Amino acid sequence: MDSQDHVCARCAEQHGSCCTLEPGLEEYCFPLSAAERAAMQAAGAKAEHFHREANTPAFVDNLCRLFPGEEEHIRALFPGQGFHHRVGISPQGACMLLGAAGCLLPRNARPLYCRIYPFWIQNGRQLYFDFCRCQAQLEAGGGAGLLKRLGMTPEDVRHTYQELRRAWNLPEHT
Ligand code: SF4
Ligand code: SF4
Repeated sequence: MDSQDHVCARCAEQHGSCCTLEPGLEEYCFPLSAAERAAMQAAGAKAEHFHREANTPAFVDNLCRLFPGEEEHIRALFPGQGFHHRVGISPQGACMLLGAAGCLLPRNARPLYCRIYPFWIQNGRQLYFDFCRCQAQLEAGGGAGLLKRLGMTPEDVRHTYQELRRAWNLPEHT
């Protein structure tokens, strides 16, 4: 178990982790590319671990906010009448791949958004999403130690972000 799994396992026990959302917010779940689904299936994910979701206006608008300045590309990827895949979610809001000690998938087979969370890159700058139930954020007491707490480096974040962009055929960012 690596240091991220360690803190995330405690988070899963205590708060449900970022792998649980408020029922009703499922449409905002980050989409899974074909490459991610293939890697997940190769690691044991089954049909019940995936869900086909409509590209609702709220879903597309939310993605556009995550990729400012790339709205045209995002709207072309997720047309209004289309669908995308996301992880399956229980009626209680938990990802179907969440076990008692965290994600059932090995880290290298998890969705890229799961691997980069709570970090993100926007306009070339690394940031993290404030989440009051994130055990790593609670233990880090702010941003400074968060990367360390989660066993990540700025390079890990950048590489994962680039991999995520490649998975969606978004142009390479420096
Ligand atoms: S795939 Fe794993 S890491 Fe991602 S939300 Fe589900 S349980 Fe969490
Ligand atoms: S990244 Fe934060 S919210 Fe997600 S499981 Fe780890 S400690 Fe919890």
